[in-house]
This record gives sequence, C-alpha cells and structure tokens, in this order.
Amino acid sequence: MANIVFRNVTKRYGGTLAVDDASFTVNDNEFFCFFGPPLSGKSTILRLVLGLETPDSGEILIGGRPVNAVSPAERNVAMVFQNLALFPHMSARDNVRFPLVERKVAEPQIEKRVADVAAKLHIGHILHKPPAQLSGGERQRVAIARALVRDPNAYLMDDPISALDARLREETRVELKRIQRELGKTLIYVTHDQEEAMSIADRIAILDNGRIRQIGAPAEIYDRPASTYVARLLGSPVMNILKSVRGEGAVEAAEGRIRIADTAAPVDAVEIGLRPEDIKVRPWPVDGKDDRGQGRPALVFEVEPLGGYTVVTLAAGQARLKALLRGQPDIRPDAMVAISCEPGRVHYFGQSGGALAR
Ligand code: ADP
Ligand code: MG
Repeated sequence: MANIVFRNVTKRYGGTLAVDDASFTVNDNEFFCFFGPPLSGKSTILRLVLGLETPDSGEILIGGRPVNAVSPAERNVAMVFQNLALFPHMSARDNVRFPLVERKVAEPQIEKRVADVAAKLHIGHILHKPPAQLSGGERQRVAIARALVRDPNAYLMDDPISALDARLREETRVELKRIQRELGKTLIYVTHDQEEAMSIADRIAILDNGRIRQIGAPAEIYDRPASTYVARLLGSPVMNILKSVRGEGAVEAAEGRIRIADTAAPVDAVEIGLRPEDIKVRPWPVDGKDDRGQGRPALVFEVEPLGGYTVVTLAAGQARLKALLRGQPDIRPDAMVAISCEPGRVHYFGQSGGALAR
C-alpha cells in the first residue's frame, strides 16, 4: 500500500475550476473521505489519482513517486465497488475470482489471493454457494471481497453505496469500515452524505467548488469547523448560525433573545454557531425569575419526536433555531421555554465566515 500526495493540484474544464489548488496527503492504510455537495470536484480528484485526468498544474505522488506522467495502468490504483450486484449465474468463488481472471492473473496466484481475501472476510465456508443461496449480509461480503481481491497501491470508491436503501447502506458502511481496518488498505472514498463521511472515515476533506475547505478527523471537524461553510455541512440538524452582537461581558443574538455570558468571546465575531445538542431547553419561568444566566424565553414552534431524541424548533425573536433533546421531553408547540448554551460550546465566526478562537 502507499500514501497519496497532491501538491497544489489544479484541474480546469474550459472555464470551470473543477479542482482548485488542492494539497493533501492520504496516509498509508488510511480511510480518507472526500465530502462535498454535487459538482464540488470529488470525482475529478479520483480521476486525477487514477490518471484518467492530468493536472493543469501541481504534482501528484503515489508512494513517494511523482506520477503526473505515469499511465493509469502503471499507477496500480483501483477504482472499486461501483457495483455491489453479484453475477447471479456464478458461484461466490467465481464472483470473487472474476477481476483476477479478467486480468489473466496466473491460476496459483488467483487461488492464493482468493483464499487470502476469503479468510479476512470470513467467507471461505460460503464460496461454493450461488448468490441466491446467500443472505443479504453474506452477499455484500462477497461483493466486497470481489472488489478487494486485487492488491493495488490504493483503492478508490466513488459514492459506492448511495444507490442502496437506507438499511443496507448502514450495514455496508459498518462492513466496509471494519474490513478496511482489518485489511489495512489505503482507501479514498467519496460521498455527498455527511453522516456516511462522519461515520466511516479516519479523516475527511471537505470540498467546496473545487477547493478543500478543511481536512481533519470527523470529531475534529465537527467540534472545530474552520468556517460557517463547514459548520453548516455537518450534523443533523445542522449547526444554528445566528448574527451576533457583543454586549457587556456577553454576546447576544436574535434581538437579544439569546444571551451568552462570555467575557472570552472574540471581539470581531459577527456570527455565533450553536449545535442543536448544546442548546439547553427548560420550562419557563426558570425558578420563577427572569434570566439569571439560566436562559431567556423562546417559543416552541414545532416538536419532532424521533424516538431516542426529539428535535425542537424554537422561535427567538425573528430567529428560528433547532435544539436536539434526549428522549421524549414533555414540550408542546406554542409553549414558552428558557434556552441557554454553555459559553464553552459556542462557535464564533468572523466577517468572512472563518472560525475565531475564544
Ligand atoms: P462531484 O464529483 O463532486 O459531483 P465533479 O468532479 O464531477 O464533481 O465535477 C466538478 C466540476 O467539474 C463540475 O463543475 C463539473 O461540471 C465539472 N466537470 C467534471 N467533469 C467534466 C468534464 N468531463 N467536462 C467538463 N466539465 C466537467
Ligand atoms: Mg461525482
């Protein structure tokens, strides 16, 4: 396996900047995910790694070797997993063998690779069966084995499971993550699904119109988004971002209906970000008194019970914000509640949307 490095790589299609000065390192054995909205440049990055496209400027290295002038075949990078469906007329074994047979790999080597992958994926005992006799989970493991049976420098996957239904997608996600860890392969994975990116990757690169906006471990990006752009992409519901003004020892938003006592708030903050799970919601009035740091009044606009947790949409002045509460609290629409947030949980953003340190 190998690491993959981009140094200031730019790729244009006519007037479109598909990839804009991208620099990153995917480490050896890392599960690295590109996440961004449609047309943000994800697939173009994969095609640049594969060698199906050449950068207009910048350098690409695989395993330390500059590959700008190296053909796709010589790069030995595999795009896999575009199709989870197995060939129904072939046994599981023949399905797994297929990519190697197609490449005319010698028989002893095929047998060795298949045995190796089958052992790692725990499917040796079902290889003789046709797909119709396998359970859903077994079929997926066989499909993944088929995808992984070649042994390239790195694997690339372009939104591989987006076509599956929600349940199968969750199962496949878990399988993939576990398998990648067990096999120790360099894997570059593309998705436009934030939950998938967060749950599956060691590190995520967030794309916006061909530009990498932030790279980091999922928890790091979630806890410290570098900008409002990134902050708005992650989380369910996403972060509440509100225009803010600084008062005395406090920051206010929503016409003063939200007040955060925080002497450490950066002076140049123009917006605050509050994660829904960080907003405390309590019955009003609190202790029969007005605001003693325990929150200001807001109106419950709507309540969405989701079983394990509840999303409450609140109206504070002209602002709408969402709070995520555990369980099924007794909160009704049109009720008055007190909302507050620990100063340490508040995100501050400056004029250009960049995150500011407290
Ligand atoms: P994503 O995979 O994130 O949806 P792409 O990498 O496919 O994004 O596309 C990035 C940008 O480059 C888009 O604006 C897209 O229209 C453009 N683009 C991609 N491939 C081509 C191409 N072959 N010809 C012209 N424009 C392209
Ligand atoms: Mg794409």
